[in-house]
Amino acid sequence: MAIGYRDRVTKPDTSAERSPILPTVLHCCTALAATPGRLLRPRRADTTLLANLDVRPVPTASVAVGLTVLAQATISMPTTLVAEGVRSLGATPLMMAAFVVEHPKARFLVDPALCAGVHDRVLPELPFPVSYLVAPNKPVRGLAEALAEYGLAGEQIDFAVPTHLHWDHVSGLVELPSSVELRLPAVEYDWAMGGTHAPVGVARGPLRGRAYDRFELDGPPVLTFPRSKDLFDDGSVVLVDLAGHTPGSLGVLLAVDDGSRVLLVGDAVWTKLQVDLLREKAPMPGKLFDADRDAAFATIHRLHALPEGIELIAGHDYEALAARAAA
Ligand SMILES: [Zn+2]
Repeated sequence: MAIGYRDRVTKPDTSAERSPILPTVLHCCTALAATPGRLLRPRRADTTLLANLDVRPVPTASVAVGLTVLAQATISMPTTLVAEGVRSLGATPLMMAAFVVEHPKARFLVDPALCAGVHDRVLPELPFPVSYLVAPNKPVRGLAEALAEYGLAGEQIDFAVPTHLHWDHVSGLVELPSSVELRLPAVEYDWAMGGTHAPVGVARGPLRGRAYDRFELDGPPVLTFPRSKDLFDDGSVVLVDLAGHTPGSLGVLLAVDDGSRVLLVGDAVWTKLQVDLLREKAPMPGKLFDADRDAAFATIHRLHALPEGIELIAGHDYEALAARAAA
């Protein structure tokens, strides 16, 4: 009997590509040691960069798209680590989610985030202690289940656009047919798949055996972002450069059919609080997961300087995601 993608529980052995444990533990210790000082004295905003940012008008769109948030899992983290310098002993709830975008010419996913059983199927690919630090609460709603509840099967998805290639944005791929192509900047693919070891936060298993359309962001500046790509050449789905968290991190600017302009920003920030206060993640976890801290902080400046009328949805912002999921 043929085994379909839904039944596939085995995965390639990628253990040889996992980051070695000792350097990862040392990396965690360095990040932890740098954290207390930053909680008291957060990195200051770059006022020169802010003053010199060009702000382009919102691009016109001749078509609108449907946007649906598929909530998949929750996790929480001390607020003072999510946005350094916030004097709080509280915790911020975070969400992991996928997005269905319905354009007249295609139905696609932004961030095919989690599969069912992700704790056993994907997280073991991450080195200790990262696999424990990032594990979401159970139960996790797998992508196939979430799509089915929305009335869709994997075969009805035309392609997927990950905001970046960290495990919690692509693990749902193991529940999609291999025919579902991934569209992403070439620099992101090269960063995640090119080296001997997967970068911290990347699990290569879900990324294997799949077709890729690797592109350059060769379009003009949009809003405060230097480069873009208009996916359908109609202004409805414009990808913008949010490099820093990872080298090819994308923002997805949507003209939504409820009249809103939504910018999905992946993990350029985890919650909007970072944008409002213009704060980095604390060194722990930021030093672990932001590939280029300086570039990531510059990107937060670009998000902070966005004009009115853009609804920013951060990749794990429980409040923003839950509001859209409920809608
Ligand atoms: Zn994430």
